[in-house]
Amino acid sequence: MEEKLKMSCIDCGAVACDGSGKPFPDFCVTKDLSEEEIRQVIDLYRNDEENLRIMTAAAEVELEHYCQYTRLQEIMEFAKKIGATRLGIATCVGLLQESRLLARILRANGFEVFGAGCKTGCVKKTDLGLDPKHEGTGSHTCNPILQAKVLAKFHTQLNIVMGLCVGHDSLFYKYSEAPVTTLVAKDRVTGHNPIAALHVSHSYYKKKLYPEQPEEEKGCCCKKE
Ligand code: SF4
Repeated sequence: MEEKLKMSCIDCGAVACDGSGKPFPDFCVTKDLSEEEIRQVIDLYRNDEENLRIMTAAAEVELEHYCQYTRLQEIMEFAKKIGATRLGIATCVGLLQESRLLARILRANGFEVFGAGCKTGCVKKTDLGLDPKHEGTGSHTCNPILQAKVLAKFHTQLNIVMGLCVGHDSLFYKYSEAPVTTLVAKDRVTGHNPIAALHVSHSYYKKKLYPEQPEEEKGCCCKKE
């Protein structure tokens, strides 16, 4: 059995790795890495043309438009900087209206756009071997692998995810031939704003999100949900 995971960056209050000069914590993830492990990854950026192009473009978008551009504007700028003129949209069919708006904006900015909806291929869930009980949310399956293959067939150079379901997005990321960025992360409850659940996780959603009350919250005077 694998050893239990120890403390890591998510438990760190120092963030010394940002060059602030603060001391690194005992459990520091950076301290645990060998110079060789870090060097090998640096080589992946420096020696792989596509990786370097993407990292350079991302750095330029951040530098030139920090806190000025929306994510939509950043995606268009990023696409231009990596030389992507043909963009794919992998969309949930429940977000086709928004994807049409996205396509209209992308086209107005000079991009070619091709979209693949999640039900592309018209395949039944039972054809994949899924239990018929899943037909309760519709008989036809989302098909992220086919979405990736269709976009590859039309030689898209950057694919944009528009609200694919959790897990379906994992398969789309896995099979997409072009680099992928996400404009919309699906969250049916929060209007596709998943961080909202974290914002209320200490208050209204505490009972929904924690099987047990977290240690640090015990004794809290706030008795609200
Ligand atoms: S790498 Fe080290 S200093 Fe940086 S966040 Fe992780 S644990 Fe903290």
